[in-house]
Amino acid sequence: MSDFSLLIDGKRVKGDLTMPILNPATEEVLAQCPRASEAQLNAAVAAAKAAFPAWSATPLAERRTHINKMADVIEANAAELARLLTSEQGKPLADATGEVLGMAGFFRYLGSLDLPMKVIEDSDGRRVEAHRRPLGVVGCIIPWNYPLLILGFKLPPALLAGNTVVVKPAPTTPLSTLRFAELVADVLPRGVLNVIADANDLGDVLTRHPDVRKISFTGSTATGQKVMASAAQTLKRITLELGGNDAGIVLDDVDPKKVAPGIFEGAFQNSGQVCLAIKRLYVHEKVYDELCDELVALANNAVVDDGLKQGTKLGPLQNKMQYEKVKGFLDDARKNGTIAAGGAAMDRPGYFIQPTIVRDIKEGSRLVDEEQFGPVLPLIKYSEADDAVRRANATTYGLGASVWSSDTDRAWKIASQIEAGTVWINKHLDMAPHIPFGGSKQSGIGTEFAEEGLAEFTQLQIINAAR
Ligand code: NAD
Repeated sequence: MSDFSLLIDGKRVKGDLTMPILNPATEEVLAQCPRASEAQLNAAVAAAKAAFPAWSATPLAERRTHINKMADVIEANAAELARLLTSEQGKPLADATGEVLGMAGFFRYLGSLDLPMKVIEDSDGRRVEAHRRPLGVVGCIIPWNYPLLILGFKLPPALLAGNTVVVKPAPTTPLSTLRFAELVADVLPRGVLNVIADANDLGDVLTRHPDVRKISFTGSTATGQKVMASAAQTLKRITLELGGNDAGIVLDDVDPKKVAPGIFEGAFQNSGQVCLAIKRLYVHEKVYDELCDELVALANNAVVDDGLKQGTKLGPLQNKMQYEKVKGFLDDARKNGTIAAGGAAMDRPGYFIQPTIVRDIKEGSRLVDEEQFGPVLPLIKYSEADDAVRRANATTYGLGASVWSSDTDRAWKIASQIEAGTVWINKHLDMAPHIPFGGSKQSGIGTEFAEEGLAEFTQLQIINAAR
């Protein structure tokens, strides 16, 4: 595997430290990765700060051209990036390819947006204009489940708005991000994009840094709370995309055969390591057994293997910590429910867990109340739709949810009662760059995608002139 470097001030830089990155399908060392020291992080922030005046003064159309060129580079190198992504993250190669191309798509769409000045009043008394100004240095902190796609959510709007950026990938999945940075290094003026890697020790330094004006963070709710507390010291702008415990509510009028594949995909994509995956499924008693049987068949037929092998549907969990955590959820499921499919870690190297369906389980068990973030789906029986809505809402999370029904009007009514940033009907996990996305309650603060997301990378400035 080729050498990796940090990107600081337009230069490829060795880390002051190094760290091994494992392939989660084999537990073998994939590469030695450069690891930044605190001094290198500070150098990255200083480079971004120095690059800010010229970049923010660059016309928006020119910044857009740079973003489109980055999309070209991503597409031209999609095969290599996807392979690297699978090797460090674990997901099947086809999904990794989808992630890389999806990233390019987010660059193109988000890069096409605009922030036109608005005239608020133009009268004999005054002329008032609203401008969207860049903030300065933005820190982007990324989790390990979709390293490149989530970077594609943040980097294009941050740059388009005129900010300069320091990116920090997750410690177990930095390689594809470092390779991406190397590929696009020449596309941007030096210092506009800086990428460092850490061992979970520099996120807080970045968040506290007085020269960083905004943190765009995606990760767990627990870390998001720390980011918010640290950012408070300098009143940084923050966007927090955090954890979820998405409920799917299946009404009594569904055809179980028809809805099962969509539900399975919504729960098990990326081996369940999706913030917006279905994590609890409320199923009406009338269709409970039949839907359970359908999901069991899908789980038993899903090919779980190394993501680089053709035909793999589900890869390993991304890291040992998550693997151990999910095994804890399996113990809980055995105690508090009935395992209908899977139920165990696989006896082989790598962090593989069988896709698991758990029935006859209720609130009060960890698997229902907490975010499992793995391939284990609890099915909870209910008899009244109002009760299912109440139970779906009885959580501190509020990221996504879905309602499944053959009667769309009925599903819309129920959808509007659910406390979540996104509620889908007869699908789950349908996201696109023109559809704003964000969590309610403790699933997040702020919005990503679309104009709403772009605005979060700016400061509103009013100019109010006397006539
Ligand atoms: P995590 O919170 O452990 O780590 C996320 C990032 O934060 C990593 O880069 C990490 O190094 C960094 N970090 C660690 N400590 C920090 C600190 N004190 N200050 C600043 N940064 C710090 O999350 P994870 O385990 O990598 O990802 C899984 C979680 O992310 C799940 O809860 C999942 O639901 C959530 N997630 C949310 C979304 C969303 O859009 N809402 C998307 C993907 C994942």
